[in-house]
Amino acid sequence: MNYYSLNKQAPYTTFKDAVIRGLAPDKGLYFPETITPLPASFFEDIGQLSYETIAFEAIKQFVVPDIPASILKTIIADTLSFDFPVIPITDNIATLELFHGPTMAFKDVGARFMARCLGYFNENNTNDVTVLVATSGDTGGAVAHGFLNVKGINVVILYPSGKVSHIQEMQLTTLGHNITALEVDGTFDDCQAMVKTAFLDAELCNHMQLTSANSINVARWLPQLFYFMFAYKQLHKTHKELVFSVPSGNFGNVCAGMMAQQLGLPVKHFIAANNANNVVTRYLKDAIYQPHPSVQTISNAMDVGDPSNFVRIQEIYKNSFTTIQEHLSSYSFTDTQTQDALLELYSQYNYVADPHGAVGYLGCKAYLKENPRAYTVFLETAHPTKFLNIVEEVINQKQPLPPQIQAVMGKEKVAIHISTYGDLKTFLMR
Ligand SMILES: *Cc1c(COP(=O)(O)O)cnc(C)c1O
Repeated sequence: MNYYSLNKQAPYTTFKDAVIRGLAPDKGLYFPETITPLPASFFEDIGQLSYETIAFEAIKQFVVPDIPASILKTIIADTLSFDFPVIPITDNIATLELFHGPTMAFKDVGARFMARCLGYFNENNTNDVTVLVATSGDTGGAVAHGFLNVKGINVVILYPSGKVSHIQEMQLTTLGHNITALEVDGTFDDCQAMVKTAFLDAELCNHMQLTSANSINVARWLPQLFYFMFAYKQLHKTHKELVFSVPSGNFGNVCAGMMAQQLGLPVKHFIAANNANNVVTRYLKDAIYQPHPSVQTISNAMDVGDPSNFVRIQEIYKNSFTTIQEHLSSYSFTDTQTQDALLELYSQYNYVADPHGAVGYLGCKAYLKENPRAYTVFLETAHPTKFLNIVEEVINQKQPLPPQIQAVMGKEKVAIHISTYGDLKTFLMR
């Protein structure tokens, strides 16, 4: 499978090269040259297939032969060592829980898959690769955990001091080994700007092989399409037409769902559920795509002012505004609405959601108002205890800490303080 850059100014390349580079030389996102639908029998028999088989069949065209089929199977088995249950909430709303992995955010699957791909590509390479990533919270922990002790890979995570939750900070600062946390005096946007500057710094790039581990990387983005297939495996017997409500920030997850649909998965529609960062909600109203600086909300993993994967959605639908509208609706919700939704889910349905999942639930309700016969599934993208203060305050109820979270509490935090790009460069060139 070849990949091309969406900026169309860089040569076609392999899966391997796309994973190692992250971004094409023309700064465009990579996109697969072809998408071949799976046979109808795959979806008819999906109830009998294991998660691992479903994942392998769905992703192999994008990965083999750069990674041989037998190794891809092992990578998938390692990646998917936890559950992805669908939990019904009402007659026409269910949730797909994606937080049962080691850091309790849906990013675990993409980070683990990418780490193992990069580890395979780098097995016989004498030069280390450095994964440089900025995080507003969840990416850091998932990437740190996914890449821990992968040979030949060093991970450097930049996070904004005092702006991630305590649990998130512990998840990314306590692992040691090949993982280094840089605590930045500044905002997430400052962290991201430093990472971007590093990728454009010729002296630095000659000195070391840098790559990114956010959803612009095809190896982190594509495995997210598994979730939608796993939901279908659990729900196909209901013979309902599925509508997925995806709490969206950089739009990697919802865009992966659209790839699953391109592979033939029966999906009726997608909902991008947004917080106050509503570029796409506004775009779908007036066809004008207007990025703006991100604003801080209680669903902070979605505080994105210019979603990087939106160009991939445009590519899937051939840049047709009307086709995008046919497949995607988007709604934006305030923090107050999100808190009310958390409380409603708890008091009426005895379900404890996290703020991101609550935004997804609101997306279902908004869509059902216009389409009362739909069956909607919102993705629960993080475990509620990752946002303990907000959740406990809203539902007025103490939450037990799951074992994955207990394991990092009380460990020693190790982070290097930096303030400027100069500090980052000095650290990397050392
Ligand atoms: C990253 C994240 C999102 C947003 O996912 P995108 O793929 O960037 O749209 C939503 N919820 C949680 C909990 C996340 O960590």
